[in-house]
Amino acid sequence: MRVLLVEDEKYLAKAVAEILKKNNYTVDMVHDGQEGLEYALSGIYDLIILDIMLPTMDGLAILQSIRKSGIEAPVILLTAKGQSEDKVKGLDYGADDYLAKPFHTNELLARLRALQRRKPELNNDGVIAYGDIQFSPHSLQLKSEAGARELKLKEAQLLELLLSSQNRVVSKQAIIDKVWGYDSEAEDNHVEIHISRLRKHLAELSSQVRINTIRGAGYTLTKDEGDS
Ligand code: CA
Repeated sequence: MRVLLVEDEKYLAKAVAEILKKNNYTVDMVHDGQEGLEYALSGIYDLIILDIMLPTMDGLAILQSIRKSGIEAPVILLTAKGQSEDKVKGLDYGADDYLAKPFHTNELLARLRALQRRKPELNNDGVIAYGDIQFSPHSLQLKSEAGARELKLKEAQLLELLLSSQNRVVSKQAIIDKVWGYDSEAEDNHVEIHISRLRKHLAELSSQVRINTIRGAGYTLTKDEGDS
């Protein structure tokens, strides 16, 4: 899960980012409104946490703009005391939830989990089942009847991206943006190395799930030998 956190109170932003990272989220932290909008428009985020009062552009304007651009990632607004009007506006503009400051990080984590459960590929336990494998984005565990493996964070994010793009080809650039980050300098061979590690995990779990290379285009996932 890749989370965008737009919050100008640096101390708070850092504390939240640390808690999220401990819980296996990848976090991009931005302290400025315009920059937050630019990051959000990259379309690579699974969740967006938006403060309302921000320099250069406020959270509500960011929200309106990203919804207009067709970005559907769940958005949680952080509201300060006395901003109940903004809260209502925010929900009208397409926010999925809000949290009043100060909040307990456990509450933020619970809200994030609730929003993630809305993802169609996740079952009620927060697990993605595909063919003969089950994958938990939270524990990073990949299981089959033959056993279980704990994936590294980037392997897990790559697998999650492939699983959420079923039947679509995922390009190397899309993988780099999503797994390594919007302004990263990762290259194609980083992707290839991680694809080959994932294939090894799948083979060791005796899974029928295959990662297929579509030359010049990217990768697709298939569940069994009959698939194409
Ligand atoms: Ca603020």
